[in-house]
Amino acid sequence: MLTGCVPWPDEFAQRYRRDGIWRGEVLGDLLRPEAADDPDRIAVVTRHGRHSYAELDRRADRLAAGLVGLGIRADDRVVVQLPNTPDFVVTCVALFRIGALPVLALPAHRRSELVYLAEYSGAVALVVPDLLAGTDHRTLARAVRAAVPSVAHLLVAGEAQELTPLAGIDASPLDLPTPDPSAVAFFLLSGGTTGLPKLIPRTHDDYTFQLRATAEAMRFDENGAYLAALPVAHNAALGCPGVLGALRAGGRAVLAASPAPDEVFPLVSTESVTLTTLMPALLPVWMETAGIFGVDLSQLVIEVGGATLSPDVARQVRPTTGATLTHWFGMAEGVLSFTRPDDDDEVTATTQGTPLSPADELRVVDDTDQDVAAGEVGELLARGPCTLRGYYAVPEHNRTVFTPDGFLRTGDLVRRDAEGRLVVVGRIKDVINRGGEKVSVDEVEAHLLAHPAVRSAAVVPVPDSRLGEKTCAVVVAQDDPPSLAEVRAFLSDRGLAEFKLPDRLHLTAALPYTPVGKIDRRALARDHAGTA
Ligand code: AMP
Repeated sequence: MLTGCVPWPDEFAQRYRRDGIWRGEVLGDLLRPEAADDPDRIAVVTRHGRHSYAELDRRADRLAAGLVGLGIRADDRVVVQLPNTPDFVVTCVALFRIGALPVLALPAHRRSELVYLAEYSGAVALVVPDLLAGTDHRTLARAVRAAVPSVAHLLVAGEAQELTPLAGIDASPLDLPTPDPSAVAFFLLSGGTTGLPKLIPRTHDDYTFQLRATAEAMRFDENGAYLAALPVAHNAALGCPGVLGALRAGGRAVLAASPAPDEVFPLVSTESVTLTTLMPALLPVWMETAGIFGVDLSQLVIEVGGATLSPDVARQVRPTTGATLTHWFGMAEGVLSFTRPDDDDEVTATTQGTPLSPADELRVVDDTDQDVAAGEVGELLARGPCTLRGYYAVPEHNRTVFTPDGFLRTGDLVRRDAEGRLVVVGRIKDVINRGGEKVSVDEVEAHLLAHPAVRSAAVVPVPDSRLGEKTCAVVVAQDDPPSLAEVRAFLSDRGLAEFKLPDRLHLTAALPYTPVGKIDRRALARDHAGTA
């Protein structure tokens, strides 16, 4: 196992293998069976074209050989920041085949996040698009190389300028050794519990299990078409079953550039999409516009979660669109609980169902780690065959975020209903959930404090009818207080992703403190609950 990663204890690994949960599959084998047996079968579709299993399999082999030629080896970390394109799939599969480890950055990440990820992972390469939604990612890539000496290669999908074009990395396929299935295959980014987001190692064993089990639960097979409307770099659209699960099942992965109705609905119709994933904030827009686009959603299952879903909105989905909803609670860390397509609509509207597998162990505990009484609210602790045992290379943090017996402290407040289904009721971690995008308050506060006119600052959630929560920066300023626009421009110049820029600014004379001297964010959130 890669240094800095925490393996499952032998006793658990043996049990997961014995019970047929981990089956020794590796992610580099994605595309292979269909490429051999049914080469023209369509694997990936975008608005611009359709790509067969054989084509993508061949491209992945050639890219893998080209990357080896550049010097990329097993266990090397490669930050991959690509949007929903065939290049994403080919790049990841090529890296899986080498045993090199993609570190999946979101398209919204900017200089600050990319530098952080490259530094933290010790990346040897960065893969970016040329231009995306008005941002020149080549400029970001150059900034990463200037800041992080380990990054030797900047690979660009599209017009590379003086950097290395991804399309030019091409060589005759090599016979590469298959990675150990228990080895780390790639890294996802945590939504954060405290401080900056952490890297989540996902192994071949655990992720292929997740792909298989989520596909079975959603009744997704080779006849299915999965629509990626959310960024594929996020676990929700990547592997629940997502794009990789669709390919593992021999189905089609339909990649949308955005979840906007004019982008997705034509694809839903032409590709007869059967499954997709949405954050709750997008559901009302889909319900309002499906009729206008004349799209038939009656064969579609929509997995919704990642942030609070209003039961009222959930109840309207089938009557207005004909679509079937499943409601999930999930973390990139591997904890997954969800309702199944056959569940009663009321169960789906009001609970997040049951865990992915019987081998998942969930506990609901109080402040002293004692199990609460049945039906009571407490923090969710989780352990299981795809829940990590430690974040990458942060042993101190791991000592506080995991119990001594390996349960992850999720930072989420839940209860179990009378049937044992999970109901998420809140959160104790310092993260704001802005429509599913997680904003670590510590991270934004640290950037705010760098502003010359900011003496102290706290970032708190304020309720928002569309996104659930938005961010409010409460600032004690020096003589010349900044405006919201100035604060946003300042943070943006520091390279912070746009979704982390405060939505509101409140100037105050002093911040409240708890008796132990920490900023009392709960009091602030209460005080500012009406400011959205
Ligand atoms: P991420 O790893 O980015 O998907 O973020 C995981 C976090 O999203 C969880 O720890 C929760 O705080 C939040 N979350 C996920 N699903 C739900 C849900 N159904 N309701 C409320 N919060 C959710």
